[in-house]
Amino acid sequence: DHVYEALLNTEVDLDELEPDTMLEEKWIKEAVKRSGMKYRWAKLVETKVRENKDIQRQPPPDPAQLVTRAPVVTIMGHIDHGKTTLLDSLRKSQIVAQEAGGITQHIGAFRVELPSGEKITFLDTPGHAAFSAMRARGTMITDIVILVVAADDGVMKQTIESIELAKKAKVPIIVAVNKCDKPQADPQRVKQELAGHDVICEDLGGEIQAIHVSALKGDNLLELAEATVTLAEVLELKGDPTGLVEGSVIESRTDKGKGPVTTAIIQRGTLRKGCTLVAGKCWAKVRFMFDENNQAVKEAGPSIAVEIVGWKDLPSAGEEILEVESEQRAREVVEWRSYMEEQDKLKDEQQVIEAKQKQHHDTYKKERESLAHLSWRQRRAALYKANKHKGIHRPSERTENEELTMPIIIKGDVDGSVEALLNILESYDADDQCLLDVVHFGVGDISEKDINLAETFSGIIYGFNVSAHKSIQQLAEKKGISLRLHRVIYKLLDELKEDLSSKLPPTT
Ligand code: GDP
Repeated sequence: DHVYEALLNTEVDLDELEPDTMLEEKWIKEAVKRSGMKYRWAKLVETKVRENKDIQRQPPPDPAQLVTRAPVVTIMGHIDHGKTTLLDSLRKSQIVAQEAGGITQHIGAFRVELPSGEKITFLDTPGHAAFSAMRARGTMITDIVILVVAADDGVMKQTIESIELAKKAKVPIIVAVNKCDKPQADPQRVKQELAGHDVICEDLGGEIQAIHVSALKGDNLLELAEATVTLAEVLELKGDPTGLVEGSVIESRTDKGKGPVTTAIIQRGTLRKGCTLVAGKCWAKVRFMFDENNQAVKEAGPSIAVEIVGWKDLPSAGEEILEVESEQRAREVVEWRSYMEEQDKLKDEQQVIEAKQKQHHDTYKKERESLAHLSWRQRRAALYKANKHKGIHRPSERTENEELTMPIIIKGDVDGSVEALLNILESYDADDQCLLDVVHFGVGDISEKDINLAETFSGIIYGFNVSAHKSIQQLAEKKGISLRLHRVIYKLLDELKEDLSSKLPPTT
């Protein structure tokens, strides 16, 4: 019952409740029903329900399960400073090392193994476009940025942008001072310029490693890789190879033979053939996995990039990959996400409608104000004549005591009954303790417009010999609006008096 309690007690923030307690949608529905909860709360609960159908986050990994993982590196820097050349050289150095030497293919990432056995995963889409795209999705898969600066050119516009991006994402930098084979190369100048942008290299008393390389000739690439591994050790990069798989799509394409394929970086768990994955509104039953040498891969743990075959549709790069327990669950999640997207669109449309309604209500209010100088009877006559059945708007004469007015809406089956009711209500004027404010009256069943008006004015709806469709009743319930429907006039009036007296301060 504590969900129900929480809903009634506005002191309790729904967000503070344990996610587990919100799991049962039927609970929430029941609570809404029982509490006659206000619209605002219904909205909050709806948000909770929305979270529940999607994939629930696994708890953070048990520190005992954590193992050291390889760093994931992005190469950034100004155009023409040698990013592509550096990636190519690093990749080639790897092919030589792996005697097998399959035909390398571009899958978006590749792995370099040092003679010491340490590994590095390089994302091979250079430049900050890829980096920014990942960041925008909130998935930071890069652990280290290698900033390439040409020694003959120095710090340029995109060098500075790269520094800023890395800083914002709190990703540490290693500087690769490139093109050191060139006679006009001046690595010292590069480091001084970098210091001007708060990138202080080791020989200038800072902490940032700077390696002098030639991407073209392949000079000092091993040193660069070693510097990367050293930094990774300092960062103590850890991953959990157990539990459900989590990862990110880094590339996505349709292959003639394989169909929709993605390259994923695994961030948690170990991906195997047969796993069921969801990414965005797509899902996959993993049929095959390949590395950058087009070699079949049996399993992929944290920091490993693999090409995945088995997607039903093509997810976009940057999308988060989450493993689910079954195909059925995957279908459910995808369906749910598509449904929610549809709902969001509808909600946008609903907002437009609501804005229009508000405008409409504002016109009503203005109308009331413009007639403020007239007596109620005159106003009513004026409005009634001008707009039969549309309503009467009677402003409170005592606005200084706003809480002692009771806004009401009167609906009746025929003109005569509405008129009769209004006449009786007029006599309540004599009782000046709490003023009745008839914000609207009319003939016919309770409509959505009545509910909306009641919501705008925080009013109560009284209906005489009229009915309200089930959907209208539900709407009223949802918005927390009182609907008082009667077939006997004195019963209606009794209830109205009761409502009135409940508005009055307790007599002392
Ligand atoms: P990116 O735009 O940063 O990817 O730069 P590229 O890798 O395309 O390199 C731009 C140009 O610089 C190419 O003509 C490369 O051959 C050349 N280049 C790259 N690295 C080196 C290097 O270490 N030494 C020399 N001399 N030229 C290089």
